[in-house]
Amino acid sequence: MLKSLTAIIFGLMLLTACGGGENSNDEMEPETNTEAMAEESNEATLSIEGDDQMQFNKKEMTVKAGATVTLTLKHTGTMAVTAMGHNWVLLKQGTDVATFATAAVEAGVDGDYVPAGTTAVIAHTKTIGGGESTTVEFTAPEAGTYEYICSFPGHWAMMRGKLIVE
Ligand code: ZN
Repeated sequence: MLKSLTAIIFGLMLLTACGGGENSNDEMEPETNTEAMAEESNEATLSIEGDDQMQFNKKEMTVKAGATVTLTLKHTGTMAVTAMGHNWVLLKQGTDVATFATAAVEAGVDGDYVPAGTTAVIAHTKTIGGGESTTVEFTAPEAGTYEYICSFPGHWAMMRGKLIVE
């Protein structure tokens, strides 16, 4: 799936490169041009906060398919990770969130509330307490809508949102 996605993105970039071809000359290496554009257009920085009221400050975020996403989760509260821990877990489409959340609780604090060997997770941060931040980098999946949750026990019902990939 990733391979075909990469092919699509590369194809799109080639199309774009051709579109701007009027100004290019024969001495310019097409490959150099493509690489420069990839760096420019394929990175995204996201930030989201969790608080002591068991809330994310964003219910929806948007990125481009195939983008290298750097997401920072900040815990703006003061409560300890054991009492009000937060993480950010991006789930594959079709994942039953309730079932996943139950498995996450079983994974426990040692497993960072992510079931070992799970295939349902696209990306996740570690679990943090008040005043802390954590960052995760991942490649945005193909276009679609993906759910994210905090998988700390009991939080997912309140702490969930949608990542829209365009
Ligand atoms: Zn939480």
